[in-house]
Amino acid sequence: MNPVTRTAGIVVIGAGHAGSTLVIELRKLGYEGSVLLLGDEGRVPYQRPPLSKTYLMGASTTEQLTLLSAERMRDLNIEFLADDTVDSIDRTAQTVRLVSGLEISYGQLALTTGGRNRPMSMPGADASNVLPLRTLADADRLRPFWLPGKKLVVIGGGFIGLEAAASANKAGLHITLLEASPHVLSRVTVPEVSRFFERTHRESGVDIRTGAQVTQISHGGQYSEVVLKDGSRLLADCVLTGIGMVPNVELAQEGGLHCDNGIFVDEFARTSDPSIVAAGDCTNHPSAYAGRRLRLESVQNAVDQSRVAAATLVGQRRPYNVVPWFWSDQYDQKFQAVGLSIGYDEKIVRGDLQSRSFSVCYLSAGRLIAVDSVNRVQDHMQARKLIAEKALLDKPRLADVAQKLSDCVS
Ligand code: NAP
Repeated sequence: MNPVTRTAGIVVIGAGHAGSTLVIELRKLGYEGSVLLLGDEGRVPYQRPPLSKTYLMGASTTEQLTLLSAERMRDLNIEFLADDTVDSIDRTAQTVRLVSGLEISYGQLALTTGGRNRPMSMPGADASNVLPLRTLADADRLRPFWLPGKKLVVIGGGFIGLEAAASANKAGLHITLLEASPHVLSRVTVPEVSRFFERTHRESGVDIRTGAQVTQISHGGQYSEVVLKDGSRLLADCVLTGIGMVPNVELAQEGGLHCDNGIFVDEFARTSDPSIVAAGDCTNHPSAYAGRRLRLESVQNAVDQSRVAAATLVGQRRPYNVVPWFWSDQYDQKFQAVGLSIGYDEKIVRGDLQSRSFSVCYLSAGRLIAVDSVNRVQDHMQARKLIAEKALLDKPRLADVAQKLSDCVS
């Protein structure tokens, strides 16, 4: 067995939004012990949301994406290993072993391991011009294709696919987007809102095909060809895959922690081991808002839950109780969603779905449980508060866009 070569009071595995927020929060809460943050991308923590938007278009630089710079980490006295991968956790010995052979002894451990791209498994998907988009390295591989006239086929009509399609469109590429479901964004919103986004993309020149089943990608000539089950073939310089993410739970699982669709945590971000917390995309947590367990994939969840985890690590108890929210920018559309549009018994539209400014309000027994907004930032901000308060709303007022959402409480 390798000797223990390093020791830290708190070791944080994963240097994305959750890991970086967590280490900053530890210092804000006055933790003075040693903190070691472990990343495996060979660079300081950076923001992922701009990758599919401004970064692909060349409108933001790597430096502008920085979430936690080397200087800031020095100031906060946070040690950072940028380029090593954790291979295993030994909970009995309280050590983690890295692929490089380094072994680190921890007092407490935080798992902020996030997720990875769901891989495409069809023939031809392993070619060098079939690319996912999650990391900065992924975006750098895509950028050479972001040139006017290039042919891009996007597989997947979730946030990655749609945001990348909008940015490629602005850059002058010819885009076909293939979504397997009957609608884009079907995991996050209702068909009415999906149809709005389908229309917006089509009006901008993106060929959106729903119910599309890709069977293979063939390579050889000047272009690759994406072959669909209905026999159609699409030419592509590049194929972008955005077909979802898989949570990184293997380390936790092999370390014997309870996992089920994510690392199981309680409202204080505690795992089944009292020395280990977890936060972000990789966790399955109880949601006071939803009244059940959720695994959320969003920056908001990563940031807010990692603050809860940091509090737990310093001996405080701050239950995680936030209404989930997320956003997406596509063209001049700002889509903002708060709450989850499931389990509602009524929905009321504020504004006109044909316009580029509306909100869909979801009610359950008259109470507001979620709002999806397009270019109605005020509705979104007010809805966050109303949903948290479980406000009962006056429906006729709610349907009247002239009324402020916050004035619609009955
Ligand atoms: P996603 O939101 O899960 O969407 C993936 C889409 O691809 C789904 O609609 C899925 O349909 C479809 N799909 C799956 N397999 C397919 C196939 N073989 N052919 C065609 N379509 C297929 O995932 P994502 O867009 O890849 O994003 C990855 C992660 O990044 C997610 O966690 C996402 O929330 C996050 N992200 C968030 C934002 C934001 O919040 N603005 C922006 C970018 C990324 P089914 O549902 O039928 O499987």
